[in-house]
Amino acid sequence: MANYPLCLRDQGKLLKQSKVLARFDFNVPLEKDTIKDTSRIDAALPTLSFLLESGVSTLTIMSHLGRPQGQVVKGLSLRSVGEYLAEKLSEEVIFVESCVRGGVEQLFSLAKTKVILLENLRFCSEEIANCPEFAKKLANYGDYYINDAFGCCHRKHASVYGINAFFPEKNFSGFLLDKEIKGLNQLLGRPPAPFIGVLGGAKVSDKIQIIQTLLLKVDKLLIGGGMAYPFLAARGVQVGKSLCSSRDRELAEKILLKDTLGKILLPVDHVAAENPEESPVLIESQEIPEHMMALDIGPQTLREYKKWVARGETLFWNGPLGFFENPAYGKGTLEMASFMASSRGYTVVGGGDSVRALRESGLTDHIGHVSSGGGAALEFISLGMELPGIRALKFGPKGA
Ligand code: ADP
Ligand code: MG
Repeated sequence: MANYPLCLRDQGKLLKQSKVLARFDFNVPLEKDTIKDTSRIDAALPTLSFLLESGVSTLTIMSHLGRPQGQVVKGLSLRSVGEYLAEKLSEEVIFVESCVRGGVEQLFSLAKTKVILLENLRFCSEEIANCPEFAKKLANYGDYYINDAFGCCHRKHASVYGINAFFPEKNFSGFLLDKEIKGLNQLLGRPPAPFIGVLGGAKVSDKIQIIQTLLLKVDKLLIGGGMAYPFLAARGVQVGKSLCSSRDRELAEKILLKDTLGKILLPVDHVAAENPEESPVLIESQEIPEHMMALDIGPQTLREYKKWVARGETLFWNGPLGFFENPAYGKGTLEMASFMASSRGYTVVGGGDSVRALRESGLTDHIGHVSSGGGAALEFISLGMELPGIRALKFGPKGA
């Protein structure tokens, strides 16, 4: 595998007594300041502990949370993440309400300052715009920069991309990023066939374009969840009130035209309801009645998909196959988790909600690699080490 990025593991001595700036993906689900699932923070603990044990003089932690679109949104503050970190690291964590509006430098001169957590980077529009001045201000907080935010590495955002310009040869990957690269590398090139992709979820417009690239790699692409209905609609099947924007249907039409080898499989039956609060109804046909929305794949579809998963030598799954938060519509997703776990092939599961579903099934230990990134994992499969945030660790944001 490529010998970059340089991992933190060998840099302990270098980092001693240094100011370290580190980017994580603490995009956790919050409900009234309570973190509903801490796994993204827990996954960063090995890197954080290593940095503290290396004797850094200060550790400044950065992350985003949600999509506040450059505005301060109270419900998307990282404050409770700071409290959780303090407890886990047994260190005081100083929370700074603005990531760039002064105050941080003064903190560095205080003897007691060890760990600082900056407020949600996306409260500043400059983060997503990859603004060089913004990146420079952040870069002032560290002599060294660590990227452990795999879930953001497919984005050209200031804190994972532009910032690398200020740390030539002083930027390293964290343990989580390293683990992701190792786990996902096995999907690059020509992995053992058949390569089976399973795609679901609701962020259709986000993911639908990447399907084109995935289609070139896999031998079969099993589609379910909210992802399926634009494709069914594109084939002229009635989808009722199921998730399906006209834009997604048009994109799906284009993708289907490219699928000359018939790799794409779509649900043949559904579990549906008039609305998600109503009791489920089994629809034994591909057509969904006009007044209903499909919220899970049906038993016949599951049987068909199971056969392909069992045959797979390489498997990748992103996106729940139904509205699994309601157990009445969770069967497709939970059964897929068990098919994946019992497959003899190399299995990778990625995506916040997909991994949550996998955890609920208790089968995580039977999966080859559980990725912390959904979009990032999908893009890694096509771009590999060319993913912007990973490439920039070696060459800087625009480098050769
Ligand atoms: P991931 O986080 O794994 O990348 P997404 O965020 O794309 O996945 O999608 C997860 C969401 O998709 C879940 O909240 C799930 O309820 C929803 N979903 C999946 N299938 C359906 C469906 N048929 N109708 C409505 N929502 C669905
Ligand atoms: Mg999600």
